[in-house]
Amino acid sequence: MALQYNKTPITEIITPQTRQASITLLIKREDQNHPFISGNKWWKLKYNLEEAQRQGYKTLLTFGGAYSNHIYATAAAAHELGLQTVGIIRGEETPPLNPTLAFAKSKNMQLHYVPREAYRNKTDSDFIEQLRERFGDFYLIPEGGTNTLAIKGVAEFAQQLQQETAFDYVCLPVGTGGTIAGIIAGLDQQKQVLGVSVLKDGAFLTDEIKHHLKKISDRIYGNWHIDTSYHYGGYAKTNPQLFTFIDEMNINHNLPLDPVYTAKLMWGVLDMMAKGRFKRGSTVLVLHTGGLQGLQGFR
Ligand SMILES: *Cc1c(COP(=O)(O)O)cnc(C)c1O
Repeated sequence: MALQYNKTPITEIITPQTRQASITLLIKREDQNHPFISGNKWWKLKYNLEEAQRQGYKTLLTFGGAYSNHIYATAAAAHELGLQTVGIIRGEETPPLNPTLAFAKSKNMQLHYVPREAYRNKTDSDFIEQLRERFGDFYLIPEGGTNTLAIKGVAEFAQQLQQETAFDYVCLPVGTGGTIAGIIAGLDQQKQVLGVSVLKDGAFLTDEIKHHLKKISDRIYGNWHIDTSYHYGGYAKTNPQLFTFIDEMNINHNLPLDPVYTAKLMWGVLDMMAKGRFKRGSTVLVLHTGGLQGLQGFR
């Protein structure tokens, strides 16, 4: 059985920055690909779910913070396919459940809280062994859903995307780097890939992404870059200016954005455009990676 998938539109938006820089700015609305498993998370889960089913697993176990889009999407996906899920949540339980965790629970995800200290061991074999003793056998998906099968799924999306429309640059937000690794691997190398880090001190991401790419291919990719100046203070950090921008994009361009990933991305892209980062006359495609569920927790 496979996940439901809705084909998504590409829309153009015109702003003072696009006019001034003579850029065609396209948005791939991949946030609309599924009501609950939105954007990049759908593609990251695709081959992991296939593999879990192929190996006969009944339960998935994964990790995330209390507002994690990955937790939300995994709970929905497993429920759609009739699999059980365990969500290992970073930090203490703080009732009442926030909208993300309430949703995960409504999809029968079993929530298990782990103090921040212990959560750091989430990739240690001893820690995972303890989880197996407690929850029985499971198919493990790492935090954020990033592994080789996730990258394979995103690469497939990238291949479809370049057949669907022409562009010179593709821009996307970067958390763990799994999604951008898939985009780099899937596109032909004349296209430039620009990632906007949503983490403070995102400089380490470049090596991380190289490491992901090495696992799937011997090719050397020189057509990508991570910009680290639009994190707004760090992961999930916001300020009133960012929310004003979210409102403006929504009202003026009918473009809903979330404060953790896509608003920082869009802000960064428009700012870089104003600074002449993109070649005049070129087409810039922004990937809407989803995550709009996260807005509920913020407002
Ligand atoms: C998870 C997420 C990302 C980050 O993807 P990575 O593969 O971890 O880099 C970007 N955008 C949205 C909306 C997400 O939910």
